[in-house]
Amino acid sequence: MKAYSSARDEYAGKAMIQLDANENPFAGEFARYPDPYQNELKAKIAEAKGMSANKIVLGNGSDELIDLVFRAFCIPGKDNVIGMSPSYGMYKVCAELNDVEYREVLLNSDFQLDLTSMMNAIDENTKVIFLCTPNNPSGNVLDIEDVGRLLREFNGIVVMDEAYIDFSTNPSYINTLDENPQIIVLQTLSKFYGLAGLRLGIAYCSEELVAVFNKIKPPYNVNEASQKLAIKNLATIDFSNYKRSFFELKEMLLEALQGSSEVVKVFPSEANFFLVKFKDAHFIYNYLIENGVVVRNRSNQPLCDNCLRITVGNKDEITALINVFDRYEKSIIYR
Ligand SMILES: *Cc1c(COP(=O)(O)O)cnc(C)c1O
Repeated sequence: MKAYSSARDEYAGKAMIQLDANENPFAGEFARYPDPYQNELKAKIAEAKGMSANKIVLGNGSDELIDLVFRAFCIPGKDNVIGMSPSYGMYKVCAELNDVEYREVLLNSDFQLDLTSMMNAIDENTKVIFLCTPNNPSGNVLDIEDVGRLLREFNGIVVMDEAYIDFSTNPSYINTLDENPQIIVLQTLSKFYGLAGLRLGIAYCSEELVAVFNKIKPPYNVNEASQKLAIKNLATIDFSNYKRSFFELKEMLLEALQGSSEVVKVFPSEANFFLVKFKDAHFIYNYLIENGVVVRNRSNQPLCDNCLRITVGNKDEITALINVFDRYEKSIIYR
Protein backbone atom coordinates (compact mmCIF):
# COMPACT_ATOMS: atom_id res chain seq x y z
CA MET A 1 0.00 0.00 0.00
CA LYS A 2 0.96 3.63 -0.37
CA ALA A 3 1.05 5.56 2.93
CA TYR A 4 -1.03 8.70 3.50
CA SER A 5 1.14 11.70 2.92
CA SER A 6 0.24 14.34 5.52
CA ALA A 7 0.89 18.06 5.24
CA ARG A 8 3.66 17.62 7.82
CA ASP A 9 5.14 14.82 5.70
CA GLU A 10 5.30 16.87 2.54
CA TYR A 11 6.89 19.83 4.23
CA ALA A 12 8.66 19.16 7.53
CA GLY A 13 10.68 22.39 7.76
CA LYS A 14 9.84 25.49 9.78
CA ALA A 15 8.12 27.82 7.31
CA MET A 16 7.15 31.29 8.55
CA ILE A 17 3.74 31.07 6.97
CA GLN A 18 1.95 27.71 7.15
CA LEU A 19 -1.07 27.52 4.88
CA ASP A 20 -0.86 23.80 4.10
CA ALA A 21 -3.00 22.06 6.76
CA ASN A 22 -6.27 24.01 7.09
CA GLU A 23 -5.62 24.83 10.73
CA ASN A 24 -7.14 27.76 12.62
CA PRO A 25 -4.33 30.29 13.02
CA PHE A 26 -6.34 32.40 15.51
CA ALA A 27 -6.17 29.66 18.17
CA GLY A 28 -3.30 29.15 20.61
CA GLU A 29 -0.81 26.53 21.72
CA PHE A 30 -2.50 23.53 20.12
CA ALA A 31 -3.62 25.08 16.82
CA ARG A 32 -1.09 23.19 14.72
CA TYR A 33 -0.91 19.49 13.88
CA PRO A 34 1.76 17.67 15.90
CA ASP A 35 5.00 16.22 14.56
CA PRO A 36 3.88 12.86 13.06
CA TYR A 37 7.26 11.30 13.96
CA GLN A 38 7.61 12.87 17.44
CA ASN A 39 11.28 13.57 16.77
CA GLU A 40 11.98 15.71 19.85
CA LEU A 41 10.43 13.19 22.26
CA LYS A 42 12.14 10.27 20.50
CA ALA A 43 15.50 12.01 20.90
CA LYS A 44 14.93 12.31 24.68
CA ILE A 45 13.89 8.66 25.00
CA ALA A 46 16.78 7.52 22.82
CA GLU A 47 19.21 9.45 25.00
CA ALA A 48 17.76 8.05 28.25
CA LYS A 49 17.90 4.48 26.94
CA GLY A 50 21.19 4.69 25.04
CA MET A 51 19.42 3.79 21.80
CA SER A 52 19.25 5.27 18.31
CA ALA A 53 16.13 7.39 17.71
CA ASN A 54 15.89 5.72 14.27
CA LYS A 55 14.94 2.46 15.99
CA ILE A 56 11.95 3.90 17.85
CA VAL A 57 8.24 4.06 17.04
CA LEU A 58 5.86 5.81 19.44
CA GLY A 59 2.23 4.88 19.86
CA ASN A 60 -0.90 6.07 21.61
CA GLY A 61 0.01 3.68 24.44
CA SER A 62 1.68 0.35 23.73
CA ASP A 63 -1.85 -0.91 23.19
CA GLU A 64 -1.87 0.94 19.85
CA LEU A 65 1.47 -0.63 18.94
CA ILE A 66 0.14 -4.12 19.72
CA ASP A 67 -2.74 -3.47 17.32
CA LEU A 68 -0.32 -2.19 14.66
CA VAL A 69 1.68 -5.45 14.92
CA PHE A 70 -1.41 -7.40 13.81
CA ARG A 71 -2.16 -4.99 10.98
CA ALA A 72 1.44 -5.04 9.78
CA PHE A 73 2.17 -8.76 9.84
CA CYS A 74 -1.05 -10.80 9.80
CA ILE A 75 -3.56 -11.60 7.09
CA PRO A 76 -7.06 -11.70 8.66
CA GLY A 77 -8.81 -15.06 8.49
CA LYS A 78 -5.58 -16.83 7.54
CA ASP A 79 -2.61 -16.16 9.80
CA ASN A 80 -2.19 -16.95 13.47
CA VAL A 81 -0.11 -15.65 16.37
CA ILE A 82 1.03 -17.36 19.55
CA GLY A 83 0.82 -15.97 23.06
CA MET A 84 1.68 -17.31 26.48
CA SER A 85 -0.95 -17.92 29.13
CA PRO A 86 -1.50 -16.36 31.60
CA SER A 87 -0.37 -13.02 30.25
CA TYR A 88 -1.57 -9.55 29.27
CA GLY A 89 -5.09 -9.57 27.84
CA MET A 90 -4.71 -7.09 24.99
CA TYR A 91 -2.86 -9.44 22.63
CA LYS A 92 -5.92 -11.67 22.40
CA VAL A 93 -8.35 -8.75 22.15
CA CYS A 94 -6.35 -7.24 19.27
CA ALA A 95 -6.09 -10.67 17.60
CA GLU A 96 -9.86 -11.14 17.70
CA LEU A 97 -10.49 -7.59 16.54
CA ASN A 98 -8.20 -8.20 13.55
CA ASP A 99 -9.70 -11.64 12.82
CA VAL A 100 -6.40 -13.38 13.52
CA GLU A 101 -6.31 -16.70 15.35
CA TYR A 102 -4.72 -16.40 18.82
CA ARG A 103 -3.02 -19.60 19.99
CA GLU A 104 -2.53 -19.61 23.75
CA VAL A 105 0.23 -21.80 25.13
CA LEU A 106 0.12 -22.51 28.84
CA LEU A 107 3.22 -21.56 30.84
CA ASN A 108 4.65 -24.17 33.20
CA SER A 109 4.01 -24.06 36.96
CA ASP A 110 6.95 -21.63 37.42
CA PHE A 111 5.35 -19.31 34.84
CA GLN A 112 8.16 -20.16 32.38
CA LEU A 113 7.83 -21.05 28.69
CA ASP A 114 6.90 -24.61 27.79
CA LEU A 115 9.09 -24.68 24.68
CA THR A 116 7.83 -28.02 23.39
CA SER A 117 4.20 -26.87 23.40
CA MET A 118 5.24 -23.56 21.93
CA MET A 119 7.11 -25.20 19.03
CA ASN A 120 4.15 -27.53 18.46
CA ALA A 121 1.80 -24.56 18.17
CA ILE A 122 3.85 -23.00 15.36
CA ASP A 123 2.83 -23.68 11.76
CA GLU A 124 3.47 -22.03 8.39
CA ASN A 125 0.82 -19.35 9.11
CA THR A 126 2.31 -18.30 12.46
CA LYS A 127 3.53 -14.73 12.00
CA VAL A 128 4.09 -13.42 15.52
CA ILE A 129 4.88 -14.73 18.99
CA PHE A 130 4.02 -12.44 21.91
CA LEU A 131 6.25 -12.77 24.98
CA CYS A 132 5.83 -10.66 28.08
CA THR A 133 8.80 -10.25 30.42
CA PRO A 134 8.49 -9.38 33.28
CA ASN A 135 5.14 -11.06 32.77
CA ASN A 136 1.80 -9.61 33.77
CA PRO A 137 0.18 -11.02 35.97
CA SER A 138 2.88 -13.38 37.30
CA GLY A 139 5.66 -10.77 37.71
CA ASN A 140 8.56 -13.05 36.72
CA VAL A 141 11.14 -12.66 33.98
CA LEU A 142 11.27 -15.33 31.26
CA ASP A 143 14.36 -17.53 31.24
CA ILE A 144 16.92 -16.02 28.81
CA GLU A 145 18.01 -19.44 27.51
CA ASP A 146 14.42 -20.37 26.66
CA VAL A 147 13.88 -17.09 24.83
CA GLY A 148 17.16 -17.60 22.96
CA ARG A 149 16.10 -21.06 21.81
CA LEU A 150 12.73 -19.77 20.66
CA LEU A 151 14.43 -17.00 18.66
CA ARG A 152 16.64 -19.55 16.95
CA GLU A 153 13.80 -21.93 16.09
CA PHE A 154 11.18 -19.39 14.99
CA ASN A 155 11.98 -16.92 12.24
CA GLY A 156 8.85 -14.75 12.41
CA ILE A 157 8.32 -11.63 14.52
CA VAL A 158 8.81 -11.96 18.28
CA VAL A 159 7.26 -9.18 20.36
CA MET A 160 8.86 -8.74 23.78
CA ASP A 161 6.48 -6.75 25.94
CA GLU A 162 8.69 -5.07 28.54
CA ALA A 163 6.08 -2.80 30.11
CA TYR A 164 7.67 -3.51 33.53
CA ILE A 165 11.36 -3.70 32.60
CA ASP A 166 12.26 -0.45 34.39
CA PHE A 167 11.32 -2.05 37.73
CA SER A 168 13.47 -5.09 37.01
CA THR A 169 17.14 -5.72 37.69
CA ASN A 170 17.29 -7.80 34.47
CA PRO A 171 18.58 -6.33 31.21
CA SER A 172 16.26 -5.27 28.39
CA TYR A 173 16.17 -6.97 25.00
CA ILE A 174 16.65 -3.55 23.35
CA ASN A 175 20.38 -4.25 23.58
CA THR A 176 20.01 -7.36 21.38
CA LEU A 177 18.18 -5.84 18.40
CA ASP A 178 21.25 -5.87 16.15
CA GLU A 179 21.73 -9.63 16.60
CA ASN A 180 17.97 -10.32 16.50
CA PRO A 181 16.24 -8.15 13.88
CA GLN A 182 13.08 -10.24 14.31
CA ILE A 183 12.45 -8.72 17.76
CA ILE A 184 10.09 -5.84 18.53
CA VAL A 185 10.55 -4.64 22.12
CA LEU A 186 7.57 -2.83 23.60
CA GLN A 187 7.99 -0.46 26.52
CA THR A 188 5.72 2.26 27.87
CA LEU A 189 5.71 5.53 29.78
CA SER A 190 2.60 4.27 31.65
CA LYS A 191 4.21 2.26 34.42
CA PHE A 192 7.67 3.23 35.78
CA TYR A 193 7.54 6.69 34.20
CA GLY A 194 4.16 7.40 35.76
CA LEU A 195 2.54 8.91 32.66
CA ALA A 196 -0.30 6.44 31.98
CA GLY A 197 -2.70 9.32 31.33
CA LEU A 198 -0.61 10.63 28.43
CA ARG A 199 -0.86 7.33 26.51
CA LEU A 200 2.67 6.82 25.25
CA GLY A 201 3.98 3.44 24.20
CA ILE A 202 7.41 2.75 22.72
CA ALA A 203 8.49 0.13 20.20
CA TYR A 204 12.20 -0.50 19.64
CA CYS A 205 12.98 -2.42 16.46
CA SER A 206 15.12 -2.47 13.32
CA GLU A 207 14.92 0.52 10.97
CA GLU A 208 13.30 -1.76 8.41
CA LEU A 209 10.44 -2.50 10.83
CA VAL A 210 10.25 1.17 11.89
CA ALA A 211 9.54 2.01 8.24
CA VAL A 212 6.69 -0.54 8.20
CA PHE A 213 5.09 0.96 11.32
CA ASN A 214 5.49 4.51 10.05
CA LYS A 215 3.70 3.54 6.86
CA ILE A 216 0.63 2.08 8.54
CA LYS A 217 0.21 4.10 11.73
CA PRO A 218 -2.38 6.92 11.88
CA PRO A 219 -0.33 9.98 10.83
CA TYR A 220 -0.85 12.01 14.03
CA ASN A 221 -1.17 9.12 16.48
CA VAL A 222 0.54 10.91 19.38
CA ASN A 223 -1.05 14.27 20.13
CA GLU A 224 0.82 17.50 20.77
CA ALA A 225 -0.16 17.77 24.47
CA SER A 226 1.20 14.27 25.18
CA GLN A 227 4.44 14.95 23.32
CA LYS A 228 5.04 18.22 25.19
CA LEU A 229 4.09 16.91 28.63
CA ALA A 230 6.17 13.77 28.21
CA ILE A 231 9.26 15.82 27.32
CA LYS A 232 8.67 18.07 30.32
CA ASN A 233 8.06 15.21 32.77
CA LEU A 234 11.00 13.11 31.61
CA ALA A 235 13.26 16.13 32.17
CA THR A 236 11.95 17.14 35.59
CA ILE A 237 11.11 13.96 37.54
CA ASP A 238 13.87 12.43 39.66
CA PHE A 239 13.56 8.80 38.56
CA SER A 240 16.57 7.46 40.45
CA ASN A 241 15.06 8.78 43.68
CA TYR A 242 11.74 7.16 42.77
CA LYS A 243 13.49 3.86 42.07
CA ARG A 244 15.10 3.83 45.52
CA SER A 245 11.84 4.44 47.36
CA PHE A 246 10.07 1.98 45.06
CA PHE A 247 12.31 -0.89 46.22
CA GLU A 248 11.73 0.04 49.87
CA LEU A 249 7.97 0.09 49.38
CA LYS A 250 8.06 -3.20 47.48
CA GLU A 251 9.92 -4.80 50.41
CA MET A 252 7.45 -3.30 52.90
CA LEU A 253 4.48 -4.72 50.96
CA LEU A 254 6.18 -8.11 50.58
CA GLU A 255 6.85 -8.43 54.33
CA ALA A 256 3.28 -7.47 55.18
CA LEU A 257 1.87 -10.02 52.75
CA GLN A 258 4.16 -12.78 53.96
CA GLY A 259 3.04 -12.04 57.54
CA SER A 260 -0.63 -12.52 56.77
CA SER A 261 -2.28 -15.78 57.83
CA GLU A 262 -4.50 -15.63 54.73
CA VAL A 263 -1.60 -15.65 52.27
CA VAL A 264 -0.51 -19.01 50.84
CA LYS A 265 2.25 -17.69 48.57
CA VAL A 266 3.70 -14.46 47.22
CA PHE A 267 5.21 -15.12 43.79
CA PRO A 268 8.62 -13.53 43.20
CA SER A 269 8.28 -10.31 41.21
CA GLU A 270 10.50 -8.25 38.95
CA ALA A 271 7.65 -5.78 38.40
CA ASN A 272 5.72 -3.21 40.46
CA PHE A 273 3.11 -5.70 41.61
CA PHE A 274 2.88 -9.05 43.36
CA LEU A 275 0.78 -12.02 42.34
CA VAL A 276 -0.43 -13.39 45.66
CA LYS A 277 -2.12 -16.72 46.32
CA PHE A 278 -4.67 -16.57 49.16
CA LYS A 279 -6.61 -19.28 50.99
CA ASP A 280 -9.77 -17.64 49.65
CA ALA A 281 -9.03 -14.88 47.12
CA HIS A 282 -12.70 -14.12 46.45
CA PHE A 283 -13.35 -13.46 50.15
CA ILE A 284 -10.23 -11.28 50.55
CA TYR A 285 -11.01 -9.38 47.36
CA ASN A 286 -14.45 -8.44 48.68
CA TYR A 287 -13.11 -7.69 52.15
CA LEU A 288 -10.56 -5.28 50.66
CA ILE A 289 -13.24 -3.59 48.52
CA GLU A 290 -15.44 -3.13 51.61
CA ASN A 291 -12.47 -1.37 53.17
CA GLY A 292 -11.88 0.90 50.20
CA VAL A 293 -8.97 -0.98 48.60
CA VAL A 294 -9.26 -2.39 45.09
CA VAL A 295 -6.80 -4.97 43.77
CA ARG A 296 -7.00 -7.08 40.62
CA ASN A 297 -8.66 -10.47 40.95
CA ARG A 298 -6.77 -12.88 38.68
CA SER A 299 -8.33 -16.06 40.11
CA ASN A 300 -9.99 -16.99 36.84
CA GLN A 301 -6.70 -16.89 34.88
CA PRO A 302 -4.86 -20.15 34.13
CA LEU A 303 -2.38 -21.13 36.90
CA CYS A 304 -3.71 -18.25 39.05
CA ASP A 305 -6.26 -20.07 41.18
CA ASN A 306 -7.06 -17.93 44.28
CA CYS A 307 -4.63 -15.22 43.17
CA LEU A 308 -4.89 -11.47 43.48
CA ARG A 309 -2.53 -9.03 41.81
CA ILE A 310 -1.51 -6.17 44.08
CA THR A 311 0.30 -3.04 42.86
CA VAL A 312 3.19 -1.55 44.83
CA GLY A 313 1.51 1.79 45.48
CA ASN A 314 2.83 4.81 47.32
CA LYS A 315 3.56 4.81 51.06
CA ASP A 316 0.07 5.98 52.08
CA GLU A 317 -1.59 3.35 49.91
CA ILE A 318 0.56 0.49 51.17
CA THR A 319 0.16 1.61 54.78
CA ALA A 320 -3.61 1.67 54.26
CA LEU A 321 -3.53 -1.85 52.80
CA ILE A 322 -1.39 -3.11 55.67
CA ASN A 323 -3.81 -1.57 58.19
CA VAL A 324 -6.74 -3.33 56.52
CA PHE A 325 -4.88 -6.66 56.78
CA ASP A 326 -3.95 -5.96 60.43
CA ARG A 327 -7.56 -5.25 61.31
CA TYR A 328 -8.54 -8.49 59.61
CA GLU A 329 -5.99 -10.52 61.61
CA LYS A 330 -7.27 -8.94 64.87
CA SER A 331 -10.89 -9.64 63.93
CA ILE A 332 -10.25 -13.37 63.42
CA ILE A 333 -8.69 -13.63 66.88
CA TYR A 334 -12.04 -12.50 68.36
CA ARG A 335 -14.17 -14.63 66.08
C1 LIG B 1 0.14 -1.93 31.29
C2 LIG B 1 0.62 -2.80 30.23
C3 LIG B 1 0.70 -2.37 28.91
C4 LIG B 1 -0.03 -1.12 28.48
O1 LIG B 1 0.73 -0.07 28.25
P1 LIG B 1 0.15 1.28 27.65
O2 LIG B 1 1.38 1.89 27.11
O3 LIG B 1 -0.45 2.03 28.80
O4 LIG B 1 -0.87 0.97 26.59
C5 LIG B 1 1.28 -3.18 27.95
N1 LIG B 1 1.73 -4.41 28.29
C6 LIG B 1 1.63 -4.86 29.55
C7 LIG B 1 2.15 -6.22 29.85
C8 LIG B 1 1.07 -4.09 30.55
O5 LIG B 1 0.93 -4.59 31.78
